[in-house]
Amino acid sequence: MTTAEKPRTEISAFKNEIVKDFKDPADVAAMEAALARLPQRLGADYPLVIGGRRIETGKRIRSLNPANPKEVVGSVSSASKAEATQAIDAAAKAFESWKHLSLPQRAQYLFRAAELLRQRRFDYDALLVYEVGKSWVEADGDIAESIDFLEFYAREALRYAQEQPVVPIAGERNELIYIPLGVGAVIPPWNFAGAIMMGMTAAAIVSGNTVVLKPSSDAAIIAAWFVDLLEEAGVPPGVVNFIPGSGSEIGDLIVMHPQVRFISFTGSKEVGLRINELAAKPQAGQKWIKRVVAEMGGKDSIIVASDADLDAAVEGVTVSAFGFQGQKCSACSRAIVEESIYDEFLERLKHRVDRIAVGDPRDRANYMGPVVNEGALRSIMSYIEKGQSEGRLIAGGKRVGTDGYYVEPTVIADVAPDATIAQEEIFGPVLAVIKAKDFDDAMAIANNTEFGLTGSLYTSDEAKIERAREDFFVGNLYFNRKSTGAFVGAHPFGGFNMSGTDSKAGGRDYLLLFMQGKTISRRLA
Ligand code: NAP
Repeated sequence: MTTAEKPRTEISAFKNEIVKDFKDPADVAAMEAALARLPQRLGADYPLVIGGRRIETGKRIRSLNPANPKEVVGSVSSASKAEATQAIDAAAKAFESWKHLSLPQRAQYLFRAAELLRQRRFDYDALLVYEVGKSWVEADGDIAESIDFLEFYAREALRYAQEQPVVPIAGERNELIYIPLGVGAVIPPWNFAGAIMMGMTAAAIVSGNTVVLKPSSDAAIIAAWFVDLLEEAGVPPGVVNFIPGSGSEIGDLIVMHPQVRFISFTGSKEVGLRINELAAKPQAGQKWIKRVVAEMGGKDSIIVASDADLDAAVEGVTVSAFGFQGQKCSACSRAIVEESIYDEFLERLKHRVDRIAVGDPRDRANYMGPVVNEGALRSIMSYIEKGQSEGRLIAGGKRVGTDGYYVEPTVIADVAPDATIAQEEIFGPVLAVIKAKDFDDAMAIANNTEFGLTGSLYTSDEAKIERAREDFFVGNLYFNRKSTGAFVGAHPFGGFNMSGTDSKAGGRDYLLLFMQGKTISRRLA
């Protein structure tokens, strides 16, 4: 009996998974066991999956452990343009049957996948430690969020399956139903290697679409595991086709292919804008305007007002700037501090940042691990060099060791609001601190970038909170808490301006991006 024939009937209200803080010795033991088990799977080869068929290609992409780049976490076959085309064809074929399943039937696959992922949580946590250098807590947060996306979008599908409210008209029966779009390209980044990749894929397929999943070349192994897990959950062949490959080699083909109806992308501004531009031009044989959901970069600020609880602000800025080495789109990369408390804030911040432990993330004592690859290391170090000519280095500034890609948590103070390191996304552990004359000035500085993703304000003044509610132009605004750590359902996520299309992942509007409404009106006799 397939999963779809055995629908889960009792559906509890959605609840977020609790992220493990590893204070419970049972969790510590389970994670240690998973980390000890993982080396048996290191170096494995993963094929493409097209229409359910496993295909080995001659070319491979190796995923390396950034803490020890000599260690190969695994390697995936790399798709050529011909294989990417085959995958789109397979998705188009599978769409013809998948689209006929009801939303509740498709939701069952997500519930089952969530259950399997829950059972393997520590193995997936361990994989993230190895593949992208996450600390234990960051890795578990990523997998908890992955489970949340599966559970949340399954429930959202059930909600969209219900009768939609339309205004009654005498003599007619009117309905609005939601139907899928068609074949989609899912192109995730490496940083939330589990959650974003799984969330984008799950939302697309539960809505009735079929996809080609082109994972990030830096996080292809977790995507290969997920594709196997979906198969185990009963998702039919061709619904998710797995085609790792270099974005610069096969990306344009996937985006421009006339059979592709939508592109769901999360990544950098540069790639997102390119996708948006290419997708806008209709190709021969294309019958639709492609839909592009593009979630892109950030240059996120935390304002520390003169009346803030300084200890809380220092802690919030520190964890927002340096959690997962600052490699979050929501990471705080600018602390904007009112003049009257500036010196004291800096002193306390330096004291806190100097205590951060950097090293191999397999060791639970290390708060920061390596940055993701050599290219990232080089780019971050060049921003640090530039930053030293744009401000005063007060913490960090150096690479740590020579084996892994470790960078010290770095704070550069007295940075001008329009300096390069105050404007460009660095995507690493580098924080610019900017002095503001007063709160008005702080608000103006906060809005002076081309991005608009997350922002926080630390204050005890209700008037400042009201002002920021109105004027702080970001998709996710927080008061007296860190700028990272959005929870599915509680903090629908997505940004303004060059941060993307404000899709609000993990919110009630998200599935609509993967469907189209059909109004059906019947004259009654
Ligand atoms: P990226 O370099 O833009 O890559 C993202 C994805 O696009 C990867 O799968 C990449 O494949 C692919 N790609 C590259 N060139 C392409 C092309 N020409 N056509 C189609 N696809 C192409 O970004 P990243 O380094 O993985 O991720 C970091 C960025 O993501 C940061 O800017 C961060 O702010 C942003 N981000 C945003 C959000 C959000 O919700 N707003 C969330 C997370 C991350 P390859 O790996 O093969 O190059």
